[in-house]
Amino acid sequence: ASGYSLLRDPHHNKGLAFTEAERDSHYLRGLLPPVVFSQELQEKKLMASIRKYQVPLQKYMAMMELEERNERLFYKLLIDNVEELLPIVYTPTVGEACQKYGSIFRRPQGLYISLKEKGKVLDVLKNWPERNIQVIVVTDGERILGLGDLGCQGMGIPVGKLSLYTALGGVRPSACLPVTIDVGTNNETLLKDEFYIGLRQKRATGQEYDDLLHEFMTAVKQNYGEKVLIQFEDFANHNAFKLLAKYGTTHLVFNDDIQGTASVVLAGVVAALKLIGGTLADHTFLFLGAGEAGTGIAELIALEMSKQTKAPLEETRKKIWLVDSKGLIVSSRKESLQHFKQPWAHEHEPVKDLLGAVKAIKPTVLIGSSGVGRTFTKEIIETVSSFNEKPLIMALSNPTSQSECTAEEAYTWSEGRAIFASGSPFDPFEYNGKLFVPGQANNAYIFPGFGLGLVISGAIRVHDDMLLAASESLAKLVSDENYDKGLIYPPFSSIRKISANIAANVAAKAYELGVATRLPRPANLVKYAESCMYSPVYRTYR
Ligand code: NAP
Ligand code: MN
Repeated sequence: ASGYSLLRDPHHNKGLAFTEAERDSHYLRGLLPPVVFSQELQEKKLMASIRKYQVPLQKYMAMMELEERNERLFYKLLIDNVEELLPIVYTPTVGEACQKYGSIFRRPQGLYISLKEKGKVLDVLKNWPERNIQVIVVTDGERILGLGDLGCQGMGIPVGKLSLYTALGGVRPSACLPVTIDVGTNNETLLKDEFYIGLRQKRATGQEYDDLLHEFMTAVKQNYGEKVLIQFEDFANHNAFKLLAKYGTTHLVFNDDIQGTASVVLAGVVAALKLIGGTLADHTFLFLGAGEAGTGIAELIALEMSKQTKAPLEETRKKIWLVDSKGLIVSSRKESLQHFKQPWAHEHEPVKDLLGAVKAIKPTVLIGSSGVGRTFTKEIIETVSSFNEKPLIMALSNPTSQSECTAEEAYTWSEGRAIFASGSPFDPFEYNGKLFVPGQANNAYIFPGFGLGLVISGAIRVHDDMLLAASESLAKLVSDENYDKGLIYPPFSSIRKISANIAANVAAKAYELGVATRLPRPANLVKYAESCMYSPVYRTYR
């Protein structure tokens, strides 16, 4: 290839870091100014320019522009500055980017499969330049973060998630495929927007929807084989549960909103036991919010309890209660409940709100997963704190404005006794001379390592025991030093090490369950996981 096209190929471009020898051998003489920079110097320069932007969306656009220009440098920045850049490349900034995707859209970063491609989905997959795909993240854009239906503009989410698969989990960028399925949108603003990039129609539902999804799932397996991981992302809950159940027995599928959330929260709860005492089964859980997150977490906690105590799942579920928009989920409501809520309809008289439920159930662990902010009021936190020496309070709803309470509120209203973690980050808070650092229950702790574990073992099915394995390894990485500050998650700065550990534990489980196809099993799975991880350091071209 000519030097000119080399500079325009983001997979190979090194910009000013091309060496003298490379400039000679690859026809680059004169196409670059005389100076030769190291990758470190390029990184320093770019970080300085990104930090100058005041507006997060500008930082996001600078990062996307870099990814299109020089992929390795993009990943070097992301890996070395993960805590700073994660909120740019992922939530919350990616949400704003999706809302404005129509106007900032420049080059397609993934595959669009709309109703127009019905009957031709396999051909569409063949148009993608890469053949060896290991991880697909797919959305239909109906429930993007907490922002609702963004239709085709949801593409920012699979793109962002996959860049984390690479940066945090070490899956090669060329093995990642972002997909948006466009069946229309019910978002009136977008339908009226002349710059909207998607199908200008109301969402298809029922058979028409199911058929397109089925064609996609079939084509993926046909084109990439059985070992490709398909991660469903930000589907509305009615479709999310259905798709996971339908394809869980025939494909390697994972839903991060349901399963990834469950695994990261279970890890936090297990780690928190060191601080609050007792075993999992000694605790009583109350959730506000019984959707994908709430019921997903509840089910995984019940499963882990059942493994530990040998009690049947039907029994351990009784330690867990959920409140939805109509009040406590109880048996008298069973008829009218969506199927995913039915296992939680325990015997109890009706209770209409969270405060009533807190008083009636007396939970030791309170978890917010409703998407509605400010719902853990002073009275609620004081009540939970009145019968718990150390209540565990997890306010998971995102973004920050939707958090059930702030860190400051949790620590103040519990008089410094609460163990607190949240979905969105909060700054450390000093109460009565002691510094409390709130942990962040971020799915990014789990899914990259989880996916890597599936990839390196060649797993062909996801099993709940693998989610438990992921939780277990994450919980184990919390150090005494972390606990001293009230943290129930390890620091995010060590995420590559965390991911390698999770991957190893998940892969071990895949071998144990007989769903791993990469044989023989490597003896040291942590070392093997590390050796498989993508490095963004430049290669030398001869
Ligand atoms: P979802 O499937 O739509 O579920 C929302 C649930 O909350 C539903 O059960 C709904 O009740 C209930 N609800 C809504 N308003 C309520 C109110 N005022 N009082 C009581 N219950 C109410 O959504 P999801 O996917 O579970 O996500 C929920 C939230 O969790 C979002 O904010 C999301 O950002 C957050 N989340 C955080 C993480 C994380 O931190 N790692 C991960 C995933 C999700 P009905 O069923 O009666 O409508
Ligand atoms: Mn999601």
